Amino acid sequence: MTGTPRFDLLVRGGLVVDGTGRPARPADVGVSGGRLTVLPRDSSPGSASGSASRSASGSVADAAEVLDARGRIVSPGFVDVHTHSDGVALLGPLGGGDGSGGDAGRELVRASVLQGVTTEICGNCGSSLFPALPERLAAMRAETRITFGGDVGAYADFAGFAAAHGWVPRANNLASLVGHGTLRAGVLGPVDRPARPAELRAMCALLDASLAQGAAGLSTGLIYTPGSYAGTAEVVALAEVAARRGKPYVTHLRDEMSRVEEALEEAIEISRRSGAALHVSHHKTAGRYAWGRTERTLPRLAELRASGMDVTCDVYPYTAGSTALAAMLPPWANDGGLRALTARLGDPAQRDRMRRAIAEGVPGWENTVGNGGWDRISVACAPRHPRAEGATIADLATAAGADPLDVAADLLVAEDGEVTIISHSMIEDDVRRVLAAPYAMIGSDGVPKPGGRPHPRWAGTFPRVLGRYVRELGLLGLEEAVHKMTGMAAARFGLTGRGVIRDGAHADLVVFDPAEVADLATFTEPLLPPTGVGAVVVGGAVVVRDGEETGARPGRVLAL
Ligand SMILES: [Zn+2]
Repeated sequence: MTGTPRFDLLVRGGLVVDGTGRPARPADVGVSGGRLTVLPRDSSPGSASGSASRSASGSVADAAEVLDARGRIVSPGFVDVHTHSDGVALLGPLGGGDGSGGDAGRELVRASVLQGVTTEICGNCGSSLFPALPERLAAMRAETRITFGGDVGAYADFAGFAAAHGWVPRANNLASLVGHGTLRAGVLGPVDRPARPAELRAMCALLDASLAQGAAGLSTGLIYTPGSYAGTAEVVALAEVAARRGKPYVTHLRDEMSRVEEALEEAIEISRRSGAALHVSHHKTAGRYAWGRTERTLPRLAELRASGMDVTCDVYPYTAGSTALAAMLPPWANDGGLRALTARLGDPAQRDRMRRAIAEGVPGWENTVGNGGWDRISVACAPRHPRAEGATIADLATAAGADPLDVAADLLVAEDGEVTIISHSMIEDDVRRVLAAPYAMIGSDGVPKPGGRPHPRWAGTFPRVLGRYVRELGLLGLEEAVHKMTGMAAARFGLTGRGVIRDGAHADLVVFDPAEVADLATFTEPLLPPTGVGAVVVGGAVVVRDGEETGARPGRVLAL
């Protein structure tokens, strides 16, 4: 046979799970010009697709490249709806800057792709790399080091963020929300006071410009400073801007612990008053006082959906979370930003005040340590103290014969505030209930920062759902789980033509073995790639083959 092949790529012999939740069916999938054609293997001989499939099955001449998917599932590429991967590709020496440099950065960047993620959505929990007023950008840049593990820049708007990424080749796609904490710091600075009317107008204008350029929606992290300094009315005003652009309000609730139900009601109120669709990030009821509370929050969400409200959530399949050590401190400790925090931590009287706040609580503040204890908080990343990594703050305190708050404070000062922790704060029953909720999609909440022992979710989330919760525990059907990772996610975040396998859709695919797929990443070896994820296709290019990166870099920043 001669001439141009009909397809650039043919994925042959697999069982297609198309991302809509419909039952799996045998089919071949052709790719040409970055778009899909579904080729039903048992269609009638007269149909064009049927004959193409038969000839493809008999000869590979119809395609420039063939992926053998016999015994495998072919699904749309996974959409990780909740990442903090905003800057990992932009990291300088560690990441290589061009996305191909140092080993640490490369290992972080590829972990997501190796688990089958073809689109990451960053800018979550109120934290993004844009927008800001021009005069605030230099100060913002210093603060973003803490969140993103290096100097990855700060950008005036979504277009600037996309342009910076445009210089860095990447395997998969990236979309970004507008983080409210960043937006607030980008106008007011990291200060504990209400926004003045002119400042709120400036925030609305910056938000609207970035949404118009293609940002995916508005996110808040109302437990984190400076987002936590905002009252409900400020967030309503901003969510109205998102609503006018038809984009969702995505929130890390003001409290996911003892006051999680009140915090959920605040989010519902923001959605109702603004008209924006509501998406609850990494839904959980954490800390001993809230364990089991998903038995109340999930029925509440189901009731709202039944009444016609557009509300969804995401979840990661682990009973531990991960965040900044500084977030364990009462909100006033962070007032004024990093330098102010470090100064307070150096003052014994201020430390005593923090100790008391943790012991007694502060109204309106989610007190992680008070809800759990320092023995549930381990150090994930402390670049200058690698021996602390993996240990709990309580263990470090015992070893040093010191008070845990002092150990945490000393560590923060020595690391210039840059310490990531893992918080073992949830129970399995709650995680399973959220995973099983029909409107819950999958997001890793991965925090890819160089060094240390990050939470294994960045490398393991999607295979863990498919291995542990689908195959081993039977909590979810395969088609249902894939829908949560693909079609449901794409619909929520406006990823038009993605998340489904159908004629004309973008050619983002994963080929995995349903009998093998499993996460191998652990808290001690957090970046181990999964098993059973054979091939990953982004925009029609094979970026992973036989579980290894091919070096193809078809990914880009998606303007939505
Ligand atoms: Zn969060």
